[in-house]
Amino acid sequence: MAELSLQHIDKIYDNNVQAVFDFNMDVRDGELIVLVGPSGCGKSTTLRMVAGLEDISAGKLMLDGRDITSMPAKDRDMAMVFQNYALYGHMTVYENMAFSMTLRKENPNVIHRKVLAAAEILDLTNQLNKKPSQLSGGQRQRVAMGRAIVRNPKVFLFDEPLSNLDAKLRGATRREILLLHKRLQATMLYVTHDQTEALTLADRIVCMSMGHVQQIGTPLELYDTPANLFVAGFIGLPPMNFFDVRFEEGQLKGKGFTVQLTDAERHTLRAYNGQDITLGVRPEDICEGSDVAVKVFSNENLGMNTLVYGHMGDGLRVCAKLRGWAQYRPGDELRVDFGRKHFFDKTTTNAIRGEA
Ligand code: ADP
Repeated sequence: MAELSLQHIDKIYDNNVQAVFDFNMDVRDGELIVLVGPSGCGKSTTLRMVAGLEDISAGKLMLDGRDITSMPAKDRDMAMVFQNYALYGHMTVYENMAFSMTLRKENPNVIHRKVLAAAEILDLTNQLNKKPSQLSGGQRQRVAMGRAIVRNPKVFLFDEPLSNLDAKLRGATRREILLLHKRLQATMLYVTHDQTEALTLADRIVCMSMGHVQQIGTPLELYDTPANLFVAGFIGLPPMNFFDVRFEEGQLKGKGFTVQLTDAERHTLRAYNGQDITLGVRPEDICEGSDVAVKVFSNENLGMNTLVYGHMGDGLRVCAKLRGWAQYRPGDELRVDFGRKHFFDKTTTNAIRGEA
């Protein structure tokens, strides 16, 4: 069992920089939680507070109902995997994985059994006698994970573990981490700035900006119903298009363009009649149609899809992800319809959901 509870956690560094504000979350046993956000948003600080590598300035951290807010890192029964692997270059893979147990003077037979079991899980059985310098980046990262696995910790903590790998290896190692999670059924906290990693790995995502949690939810919840403008723009690639519009006469009027709405959308916006709002449309929710004219300036074929960039209305940039192999040339006019639309309050930047 490993249930974590972060309660009203703040972090204020010595130089009076507040890196984390009122972080609240209950992590269920066996959950894989991904903390995501741009550089400097406070995700590593949060992870390091959970690990015990940073003091918690205010609030409480509970592990299985026990207050561990002030417990030293070494007593927390957590293992951290870093982006730079932190392997010992003069030791073999075997020795690296055995190191913490050797230090604790565990029974050599137990050590041997645990290292072989971890190597098996990580497909490192044939690499045990090699030095880290003889391994690929992906294999080194697996050794770093092996070192965590042999400790059989209550909680695994990952700090940007894939950011030193090239794009192809990142994908492969990401899938290995998912399999590892399924196999170990362990509670994991994972930090990344990469929204793709968050969407593909997480049971639940915590999206952060400037030290504040913006939304906690499943990948689909963050993608489908982002809580505010920040989450809407951060999750999804290419990012959501945003337009300033006014809700008038049952339509959305922007600078030089008008968007038609469904009855349900008008209902959602009923409290905003005559007001300015922000309209958000994902590139993949734009299709060839009749509603809005776009003057194309770039056509990128990705194989199954084409990214078409253009201007609509009074020079507003828009990106559409069209199905198939489109062949628009710069200067072509494309007419599009907006499918699923997201609406945001101008003042609060919160999503307008239109509940009663
Ligand atoms: P992230 O992991 O999201 O990139 P961090 O948690 O590393 O962000 O940093 C959050 C904020 O705290 C940043 O403004 C950063 O400059 C600041 N910060 C991080 N570590 C320290 C430190 N040791 N002392 C002072 N400020 C720090």
